[in-house]
Amino acid sequence: MALPDKHNRNHNYLRISLTEKCNLRCAYCMPAEGIPLLPSAKLMQADEVFAIAKTFVSLGVDKIRLTGGEPLVRKDFDVILRNLASLPVELAISTNGILVDKHVALFKETGLQKINLSIDSLQAEKFAQITRRNDFEKVMRNLDLLLENNFNIKLNVVLMRGFNDDEIIDFINFTKTRKVAVRFIEFMPFGGNDWKADKMLSLEEILGMAKNAFGEKLIALKNHENDTAKNFKISGYAGSWGVISTVTSPFCAGCNRLRLTADGKMKNCLFSNQEMDLLSALREKKPIENLVKIAVWDKHAIRAGMDTPEKFADKNLNQDNRSMIAIGG
Ligand code: SF4
Repeated sequence: MALPDKHNRNHNYLRISLTEKCNLRCAYCMPAEGIPLLPSAKLMQADEVFAIAKTFVSLGVDKIRLTGGEPLVRKDFDVILRNLASLPVELAISTNGILVDKHVALFKETGLQKINLSIDSLQAEKFAQITRRNDFEKVMRNLDLLLENNFNIKLNVVLMRGFNDDEIIDFINFTKTRKVAVRFIEFMPFGGNDWKADKMLSLEEILGMAKNAFGEKLIALKNHENDTAKNFKISGYAGSWGVISTVTSPFCAGCNRLRLTADGKMKNCLFSNQEMDLLSALREKKPIENLVKIAVWDKHAIRAGMDTPEKFADKNLNQDNRSMIAIGG
């Protein structure tokens, strides 16, 4: 059994953040004033990423996703990926897509097939507004490049009322000819992102819009136990779409995910403000297996203990966490 917790869940999926740096400045992810960056000596070096990952794999992890910040801005990304490719794991990455063209050959060489690309608008102007950068065309070109090369692509779209909720049907229509899975993500509260419940669009609301637009052509897909999205498809379309409803309908019961921050701290839940310092232990030449097991065992059943909508909306609870960019989403 892979890394059990006291709620009978197994954890075989590790998300490793490689950096807190990003070449975009998305408003919901990073506070406007930026975040203080850690000195690079405090971050995991390539060999430390490998050593810690190897320990998780020995404990049953068989899927690793690289995140950031933006993981592709790391200068030694190729070394890290090649190291990880020597482990018996499925490799995946979450990226904003800007540097993808420089890495396609490396992805192919290492067998990295699963790519989640974040894009919150299909309109260049709006994209620039949310990301505070003008890289829309570049990202779209790189998305086409990935599709031409048959990668398995998910598009992550954080929905915010009054910003991109008018693009829901456009995004679903984007799947007509492209074999991508669009995932609408309910806007979530994190350190410094000014979350308000009324900025968020719920699963129910999104589904209502889709039903109006597509009627009987809307098909609900079967979900797997560890799926974070409730998935749908429009009959005859090449791709599919879904909703990650962490706020209104959390999927914690089937959670198999653990996180490692770029400074080597393990988080047992996206919303947990408790961290297990694996990197310091590793540097002190102490074994880390038991630290990992203890941190997993102590995981709360739902959203780090914020198990009601009231607790989740409470700033005293939800803001006492790193900003999303420092966790790795
Ligand atoms: S909120 Fe935490 S427990 Fe729930 S699915 Fe996300 S990471 Fe897992």
